[in-house]
Amino acid sequence: MKPAVALLALLLVGANAPTAADPRIAAMVARVSAARLRADDETLVGFFTRNDFSETTSTKTRGVFAARDWIRSQFESIAKTSGGRMTVRLDTYVQPKTARTPRAVTESSVIATLKGDEPGPIYVMSSHYDDCNGDCTNGTRRAPGADDNGSGTSAVLEAARVMAPQHFRGTIIFATFDGEELGLWGSQHFADELKAAHVQVAGDVNDDIIGNTHGGSGAHETHVIRVFSEALPAGAKLRLVNLLGSESDSPSRELARFAGETIPAYVSGFRVRQIFRADRFLRGGDQESFQADGFPAIRFVEPNENFTHQHQNVRIKNGVQYGDLPQFMDWNYLARATQANVAVLASLALGPARPAHAQLVMHHLGYDSTLRWDRAAGATSYEIVWRASDAPEWQHSKNVGNVTTATVPVSKDDYILGVRAVDAHGLRSVVSYPLPVRT
Ligand SMILES: [Zn+2]
Repeated sequence: MKPAVALLALLLVGANAPTAADPRIAAMVARVSAARLRADDETLVGFFTRNDFSETTSTKTRGVFAARDWIRSQFESIAKTSGGRMTVRLDTYVQPKTARTPRAVTESSVIATLKGDEPGPIYVMSSHYDDCNGDCTNGTRRAPGADDNGSGTSAVLEAARVMAPQHFRGTIIFATFDGEELGLWGSQHFADELKAAHVQVAGDVNDDIIGNTHGGSGAHETHVIRVFSEALPAGAKLRLVNLLGSESDSPSRELARFAGETIPAYVSGFRVRQIFRADRFLRGGDQESFQADGFPAIRFVEPNENFTHQHQNVRIKNGVQYGDLPQFMDWNYLARATQANVAVLASLALGPARPAHAQLVMHHLGYDSTLRWDRAAGATSYEIVWRASDAPEWQHSKNVGNVTTATVPVSKDDYILGVRAVDAHGLRSVVSYPLPVRT
């Protein structure tokens, strides 16, 4: 190959460059405090139980509503740092009795909304603050819930703390849900409310069990976090998915890839383990409520869980301590996991919107690929990305300038393509997967 031709090939088919750190986001990430996360988690544990059936309002020191009131008070003091842009409210309703529960029960989630500078997409960081001992309908026995899910709830509070003083293009909702353990109730109630109000949620980042590094299997990992993402969005047309081979390009999966590319730029040595699955076997999480309503959503969870510390009565049996206790938490890991969340949320909410209506144009047989899309808020240019059809991650990218249609010398028959927006700071959006069109 002649040097000039080689250079041209290099320009046309660039490797997908790693995400570069934005100093504004790096500053927020640096403010995350392991000591504050620990203090918040221990406060949550201190309410003795946060079980759904401990919902009495007669005490300020014990039970799920005492915990709720404390979470609300934390968000309210955080809101004071936002210049009036953060509002705090409860999402309270009566959950009817189900086959799994003895009676109807009042559910009350705490929702803090940090208003963006522009109208447009909304991003959610979520956790659940209710918990379980060995019996998820028992509201009287001790249920510390340090990891499940004091960890995620402390992370949401700390992320709100470091982000509330900052301005973002997009709106961010910090949600701590009630009623996860018995059926994702609080999150489904809230997601349904957003859907009914035609709110466009561009991504929910859900945190549930993100604070322990010693697995029950003996595995110990301190610099990796699992991200679960569903394969197909609600209402997917299976015939079309089968025809296109788009089974690994749901909006949730693209959000998971975005997290995987973003986090290493901000949290040193920390990386994502992609699990291309909605959640673990026999388990679920609040991200599924958002997915059920057609919103992209992912779940963060520690790499190696320990089942002697989840949904267990606090006890010692055969010399083994059972129970979800703070002594089994790794606070520095929880800090890294929280930093990962801040990096993702801030990149989403500061950066450009995802290009809407992305299309792959196929009006004739050809050796290249033409994409087109709508202009995205905040974008100053666009990148076409592609990967081999059997590759999990984007492998190549090419900046095509500030245009809304572009052709790349890549065969659409052999590669999966996408498009993302880039802003003046170099921040990238989540990739939009293009739907094929004939005209
Ligand atoms: Zn949980």
